[in-house]
Amino acid sequence: MSARVLDGADVARQLRRSVAADVARLGAAPGLATVLVGDDPASQIYVKNKRKQCVEVGMRDLHRHLSAEASQEEVESLIEDLNADHQVDGILVQLPLPKHLDFRAIIDRISPAKDVDGLTAISAGRLAQGRPGLQPCTPAGVMTLLDHAEVPLSGARAVVVGRSDLVGRPMAQMLLARHATVTICHSRTRELAEVTREADVLIAAAGVPQLLGREHIRPGAAVIDVGIHRRETGLCGDVDFDAVKEIAGIITPVPGGVGPMTIASLLRNTLDAAAATR
Ligand code: NAD
Repeated sequence: MSARVLDGADVARQLRRSVAADVARLGAAPGLATVLVGDDPASQIYVKNKRKQCVEVGMRDLHRHLSAEASQEEVESLIEDLNADHQVDGILVQLPLPKHLDFRAIIDRISPAKDVDGLTAISAGRLAQGRPGLQPCTPAGVMTLLDHAEVPLSGARAVVVGRSDLVGRPMAQMLLARHATVTICHSRTRELAEVTREADVLIAAAGVPQLLGREHIRPGAAVIDVGIHRRETGLCGDVDFDAVKEIAGIITPVPGGVGPMTIASLLRNTLDAAAATR
């Protein structure tokens, strides 16, 4: 039997529509400050898409650009200005930053109330303690997808492959907060397939093309693929989609699965940050 394929582009469209309706109700348009340091081509594309979608839902695009040579002090001082600016509801520093910068120190300068990427130590601590706060966009998007597909989480066995600050760790915390029994795998995990085969819900966020094949999947599992890799034949994820869709119950494609959810979650976070101050 073939898995149900989750259409992330469609779920993201619905989320953007609901954010746009809430923005209109709010009256004063929320402002999102994306911060780009340098001219990395991939980062430029990501930021361009964020700015475009921000405007499409009726928010204010308050983008700031610094040169690749910007000093630590310059970037931190820009963050302080944005923290103090009442027009700015959300601040997103596009990663990766140029190598000479201490990205953790820069991220931690962001006021937790404006931390729409959910990456400051305070936001991460709140999530770890199960307290309310702004949460990282990609794992938040995965939760929205799982809820949309009505995947049961309470008591379910969830396995997250990857432990990054951006995806794997917060993903595991969010599943834990929903009462799943969570296992985190990483590059030193032994017998990966044995662990992942236990999963009712499997999240692939290792950044290794097609790492997970048929042998990693419990029949009927919900398989969410966060990975994105550009290959000559097109984009692929961390999951071997063609092999796994024959055995999984639910699967996300790449592209068109988790990818579109990330920006939609960012817009939702920006709306929530603005609503808290109005
Ligand atoms: P990362 O490189 O920071 O972290 C990867 C994690 O996977 C690490 O914790 C590592 O221990 C683990 N890992 C590596 N190889 C492994 C292996 N063989 N077995 C088990 N675990 C292994 O990456 P990241 O930032 O978390 O991103 C992961 C993937 O998700 C990447 O492909 C990235 O492009 C993609 N991504 C997509 C979105 C989106 O919007 N869809 C957003 C962020 C990241």
